[in-house]
Amino acid sequence: MVSRARGMSLRAIFGGATAAIVGLVVVITAALVGLTTLLHRTTSHAAYSVENVRLAQEAQIELLLLGRVTDPVVRRDIEARITTRLLEAKQYVSSPDERRIFDEATALVNAYTSQHRQSSNGPVPQEAVFGALEALVNVNVAQARIAHATAAEWDRLTNYSGIAIAALLFLGAAGILQWFRTRALQPVLALSDAMAEFGRGNRDSRGPDIGPAELREMSRRFNEMAAALSAQRRAQVAFLAGVAHDLRNPLSALGLSVSLMPADRPLPSETRLRQLIATIGRQVKHLNRMVGDFLDIARIDAGELELRRDMHDARRLVTDVVGLFEATSADPRFVVSLPDEAVDVYCDGLRIEQVLTNLISNSIKYSPAASPIEIALEPSQEDVVFIVTDHGIGIAEAELPCVFEAFRRVGLSKEAVPGVGLGLFVVNRIVQMHGGSINVKSTLGAGSTFRVQLPRAPSESVAPEVLQSETTAVLN
Ligand code: ADP
Repeated sequence: MVSRARGMSLRAIFGGATAAIVGLVVVITAALVGLTTLLHRTTSHAAYSVENVRLAQEAQIELLLLGRVTDPVVRRDIEARITTRLLEAKQYVSSPDERRIFDEATALVNAYTSQHRQSSNGPVPQEAVFGALEALVNVNVAQARIAHATAAEWDRLTNYSGIAIAALLFLGAAGILQWFRTRALQPVLALSDAMAEFGRGNRDSRGPDIGPAELREMSRRFNEMAAALSAQRRAQVAFLAGVAHDLRNPLSALGLSVSLMPADRPLPSETRLRQLIATIGRQVKHLNRMVGDFLDIARIDAGELELRRDMHDARRLVTDVVGLFEATSADPRFVVSLPDEAVDVYCDGLRIEQVLTNLISNSIKYSPAASPIEIALEPSQEDVVFIVTDHGIGIAEAELPCVFEAFRRVGLSKEAVPGVGLGLFVVNRIVQMHGGSINVKSTLGAGSTFRVQLPRAPSESVAPEVLQSETTAVLN
């Protein structure tokens, strides 16, 4: 019973209720029409019988008068009146029995009046005619009684039917109200309570899976939304925790460096001072990169990261970035192979430099000092591919698909090398916005190769909103 009610939809229930009400109205109307027709017929019978009683009695009185009058003119007048009464009574005859009695009485009246015209004494005595008319009176009185009794019977039946219909309507209305209270109102109230509870901060509050299909669907959608909001909330908390955690390392390194140079004590030796300043510089650079990544993520999430695209020689972008690294690195470790011809590519130069910087600094971070880092360009008619290869720790095959996800740090690098796990996420988004793609091939312990493919010609840049929704999804 419960499961059947669970499966029903409001539409089906209202459809059924409407059909039931229409059916009930049709039955009640038919019953009322039938009953009024029957009552009308019964009262008409009663009225005809009463009318015929009157006419038969008037004919009897005329008959008595006829017996006493001798004037032929008056007699004809009385005979005409008797005939008129009988003709009138004929149209009210309502049963075969009455028809027989009426015919007998009419025949006797006709025989009596015609015999009377010749002589007053004939074979038809006045008493016989009177008796026949009396029989007509009696049959009509009996019929009127029967009609009265029938009318009373119908009246009783109508009263009972009215009471039964009223009871039926009352029970139906009570049933509908009860259903509405338990099956429709309660689920709505429960859902509303769940929503209010969720609004008060109980993130585990969920709508019940009860009631008609539409309400369960509403509840299911609320639950989905609540689950998504809870997950979003958890992701935000995790994001903040990640940010706080990753800010703590460089900040404590900075704090430590500063604590080694107290204001009230003599400064350490110049060599030590230079070491401390170098540490501070590294941490500031690290913090700078992290904040840059956070800002980029925020811009992507808000759909505000815009590309300023122009024609650039891809070789120039590579040499500029490598030049910066070479300026700060003691050992020459970059092996750059570039085509002789210019490789024009339509891109946001600064953002592509950011991509290359990220890939190269990862290669430096995740490979032994002085191991070579190869940077190459592979141009084709339509695309250009930037390739960054290192011979470092590499990435396990199972973890390769995750490295472009936000806050994803894999393998040994998690503990050994500082980082937040946002660099490749931002890189991937920038490349996607250019209509390009990025992939990585890696062997654990042997090194990694990142390939960034970009279309060379101006092309429709991917709308930030598209990436924004993807970014929000990833962050969630
Ligand atoms: P991070 O700030 O941790 O470097 P990234 O998003 O740049 O964040 O990289 C994500 C993760 O991918 C890194 O934590 C690291 O585990 C892995 N990774 C990225 N580049 C390399 C690489 N060249 N060699 C090995 N592992 C890498």
